Amino acid sequence: MDENVNELISDLKIYLEYLKGMGIDSLPVSDQISKKVLPSRSETQTLADVRKELGDCKRCKLHRTRKTIVFGEGNEKAALMFIGEGPGYDEDVQGRPFVGKAGQLLTKIIESIDLSREEVYIANIIKCRPPQNRNPEPDEIESCNPFLMKQIRVIQPKIICALGTFSAQTLLQTDTKITALRGKLYDFEGIKVIPTYHPAFLLRNPEKKREVWEDMKKIAEWLKNNRTNGTMEKWNGG
Ligand code: SF4
Repeated sequence: MDENVNELISDLKIYLEYLKGMGIDSLPVSDQISKKVLPSRSETQTLADVRKELGDCKRCKLHRTRKTIVFGEGNEKAALMFIGEGPGYDEDVQGRPFVGKAGQLLTKIIESIDLSREEVYIANIIKCRPPQNRNPEPDEIESCNPFLMKQIRVIQPKIICALGTFSAQTLLQTDTKITALRGKLYDFEGIKVIPTYHPAFLLRNPEKKREVWEDMKKIAEWLKNNRTNGTMEKWNGG
């Protein structure tokens, strides 16, 4: 049998096993599975639980080419969460999100509003590097999404900064371009979302840094206006 057909059957088996593991014994229609909803609070306890459940994930074809699963890192009680697109070369090697050149820029962006990487939480829409850094495909986003939703449920951030097109469009369930989405405040199940440009895009288009700076100022202002007292611990829910 053709090798591609074998691969397709293998992927289908993995996906059906995954659905079975989630208690789904019939095939859902596409718009049902694509709906991004947070799991109930009782379904999730800690990030360690979510990581354990993810295991040595083979739920989508990206497991074949990745070196490391990049789960996410930061403060489990962060008020501010950054969600990017997916791991690149450096992240795949190190198993940590945003550690390459774009990651160094993200660190500076976080520090520009007087926060540190340790105070926020950083994750991606998908947890495994796509070959040659290609864009994530819909089936990969669908397979990985339940785990991102569980991470969000555990962390309960007050605001999410969606970095780049895929992150913003996936969270907000829209095809609208990032240029139109960025800088505005949206609601995602009670959590505020501000999309902005991805740091990798900024490396190629440094003239766009000013717009990201404006978006970061909005985030800082929102956090300031919505904190319960003046301590950073309270910002982080501690
Ligand atoms: S991208 Fe997500 S769903 Fe796909 S193999 Fe990696 S962890 Fe699993």
